[in-house]
Amino acid sequence: MTKPRSPTRWATDISSVLNKVFGLNHFPVSVSDVALDLSKDWFPDDPLSLIQGENLPGFDGALLPAPSGRKGWGILYNNAITSKGRINFTLAHEFGHYLIHRLSFPNGLRCSQDDVVRWDSAYRQIEQEANTFAAYLLMPLDDYRRQIDTRTAATFELLGHCADRYEVSLVAATLRWLLFTERRAVLVLSREGYILWARSSKAALKSGVFIRTSGLAVPVPDASAAAYPDTFADARKGIEHPPGVWFPEPCQEMCIVSENYDFTISLIQLPPSSGACSFAADEDEEPEALGDRIRRIHNI
Ligand SMILES: [Zn+2]
Repeated sequence: MTKPRSPTRWATDISSVLNKVFGLNHFPVSVSDVALDLSKDWFPDDPLSLIQGENLPGFDGALLPAPSGRKGWGILYNNAITSKGRINFTLAHEFGHYLIHRLSFPNGLRCSQDDVVRWDSAYRQIEQEANTFAAYLLMPLDDYRRQIDTRTAATFELLGHCADRYEVSLVAATLRWLLFTERRAVLVLSREGYILWARSSKAALKSGVFIRTSGLAVPVPDASAAAYPDTFADARKGIEHPPGVWFPEPCQEMCIVSENYDFTISLIQLPPSSGACSFAADEDEEPEALGDRIRRIHNI
């Protein structure tokens, strides 16, 4: 039995097809068109035949089998969501479930906001796999690096430019940046003064800068912008904190209240540590010649 294709491999394979057909500058990816066309080509007996908005209270999206007697699958998204970026990421997440998980879940999957927004490895594995696929498909590393160099500090303006380019939410664009940047940075999502979850860049993790939240009600620091996001006029551009606010060392916190989600976003950046070293920038797999990849894809 052949090894199942990984989420990153699925995404890079599809990116190669898009590069070939539409050129390198093929953003944002139109997930609906790509999913409908490729599933028909690759899995003609089991394709995606429907993608549409529906009344889905409590869920951001779903992958569902066609009614009995008909073949194929459908992707639904919550039509109460107005953010194009949030919808696009949800569609890519469900397309990931279709490619990776449909055989193991013949009755389909329904995905909550947490399923689509959280990317931490401790979260449910299938949701993490669908999010990894979506992130790699919508925000390929080579293109993202051309928008923000690996050594450049982020601003919400820069990350917002990337969110627009890839048609994803600011949180999704920031999480993707955290995966490849060499800077020390931590993304913290909070609600009503309590941390929902946090994610560190590799450089931050390596220097011991992270926030553990699993199962605990951890309040944001009293002196942080996240505690009073509306009272800091410059919170969006960044506030310099002395040692002891977020971490034992000084840091800068940029903070905004998300309009699309019910939470506050803090991006905390720290100066490069003296012992900082370069990292293998991502978990991308070995490069494969484009021609080989296209031939392999079309031989499915
Ligand atoms: Zn899901």
